[in-house]
Amino acid sequence: MKRIIYLAFDHLHRDFGALKQVNSKEDVIALVESARMTTGRKWHKERLFFLISSARHFAQSLREEGFTVEYVKAATTIDGLNIISDKYKALPIICAEPSSFRQFAALKEYGVSFVENDFFLTPRSLFHSWASEQKSYLMESFYRIQRTRLNILMDGKEPIGGAWNFDKENRLPPPKKYEGPPYLEHQRDEIDQEVGAELGYTLTTTWATTRTGALAQMNNFFDNHFAEFGPLEDAMTTENWAMHHSLLSPYLNNGLLHASEVIQAATDAFHYGKVPIESAEGFIRQIIGWREYVNGMYWFLGPDYRNNNQLEAERPLLPLFTDPNKTQMNCVKETVSDINERAWVHHIPRLMLLSNLALVTGTNPQEFLEWMREVFIDASEWVMVPNVIGMGVHADGGRMMTKPYAAGGAYISRMSNYCKPCKYDPKLRTGENACPFTTLYWDFLDRHKETFAKNHRMSQQVFGLNRLTDLPELKVRAQEVLKGLELGQI
Ligand SMILES: Cc1cc2nc3c(=O)[nH]c(=O)nc-3n(C[C@H](O)[C@H](O)[C@H](O)COP(=O)(O)OP(=O)(O)OC[C@H]3O[C@@H](n4cnc5c(N)ncnc54)[C@H](O)[C@@H]3O)c2cc1C
Ligand code: SF4
Repeated sequence: MKRIIYLAFDHLHRDFGALKQVNSKEDVIALVESARMTTGRKWHKERLFFLISSARHFAQSLREEGFTVEYVKAATTIDGLNIISDKYKALPIICAEPSSFRQFAALKEYGVSFVENDFFLTPRSLFHSWASEQKSYLMESFYRIQRTRLNILMDGKEPIGGAWNFDKENRLPPPKKYEGPPYLEHQRDEIDQEVGAELGYTLTTTWATTRTGALAQMNNFFDNHFAEFGPLEDAMTTENWAMHHSLLSPYLNNGLLHASEVIQAATDAFHYGKVPIESAEGFIRQIIGWREYVNGMYWFLGPDYRNNNQLEAERPLLPLFTDPNKTQMNCVKETVSDINERAWVHHIPRLMLLSNLALVTGTNPQEFLEWMREVFIDASEWVMVPNVIGMGVHADGGRMMTKPYAAGGAYISRMSNYCKPCKYDPKLRTGENACPFTTLYWDFLDRHKETFAKNHRMSQQVFGLNRLTDLPELKVRAQEVLKGLELGQI
């Protein structure tokens, strides 16, 4: 043997990263299941199960292909590499560039050599050159360059369909009594059972843990959901937990699928006339636009970006985030219960419910970030940090997004069926039946009016405060709501 190829748990693809140049006679492949990863925090068990079982299945598939594979359990990744390195007499270790600053630094210090991380469509250096030339880092500008550079949905230099973006067509509320096609269930095998038993976890059938399962999930999306993805992508309903979302983020993030494979299947479906442009464009934008942009921004903004707290939000994490019984807000109760069940909700509950609530209550961004990291199936550091700190709670002072995503109950009422059975009324901002989102939205604007008045995209909202004749009463109610939320009674 001549080299050790180290595979992180998010590099599980045979054709990318360090495995691209692997040689079965000269290389030993190393995977490390570190206790730091499994027991270090209050991780959602579904998430741990998914990550560990996927890695064990992948190791097994490499062995079946004829590779020598060392899968070790150790206190940390470095301890695991030490065990393997001792066994193979300190052979050089090769790895694809890791996906977080912390792991990058640790492996570099250990002396690992890196090959380029090609699990994304945009090299880190290319994104850096783009961002270095921008005054404001608008995702839409980046996305248009991506469409042209990658030649996706293009007709020469023009976008197919005559527009870059069909978001206006994509904001429908959920239809009444909406069921939609059934979601795919993933059967469990011996490896899954073994991991479940080690974690003391009763297995669900929600997430695949193999490449075959991930491909089945992808095909199921393109066959049954893609056409309706666009118009309903922002809708939330208790009648269908995922609407027409693809449920592909866990596999894209741990490597079981590569973005290029998903994009190829999406463009094929569009060119064969299976889906309208608004769905094709909307979905492709999420992957070649948002996903690549967020990863690029993580590396561009640097390791200290996660510590931003420019709105000086210091409230400890509210009890409702960890226990849905600690709230009477139907939207939050349903969303946190969904997360407990599947470790997933789509982008609108993440942004307009959970992050919005953290934002308007002035919850400490780092406490909220840690919670989000622990509970979502797809929560890698590179993707959670910009999404939460920049987009979700505007803790970076607007470096990434030009305005905060703060909203009252009217938005949630329009885009979901949560409000009808709720104790609170989205239209009311004062009184004991007032929707906490509506009250706290105005209170938030009032608390930060000096900061936001300077932002031309916020001035209209701040100006709206002048129309509130009941602002003093609202401020009193806001304090009651905040107290009630802290006590788990609102
Ligand atoms: C506050 C907040 C936190 C988020 N945290 C994560 C996270 O930890 N991990 C994660 O993968 N996504 C995160 N997202 C993005 C998005 O919510 C999820 O990617 C999506 O809900 C996953 O479900 P899906 O695969 O069905 O996505 P679809 O709606 O089907 O979208 C397709 C794909 O687009 C990509 N995508 C879309 N939006 C984003 C985005 N903002 N950032 C990165 N990729 C995106 C994902 O890979 C997703 O699989 C977050 C968004 C917000 C607002
Ligand atoms: S009324 Fe307010 S708290 Fe209740 S479900 Fe609607 S938005 Fe949520």
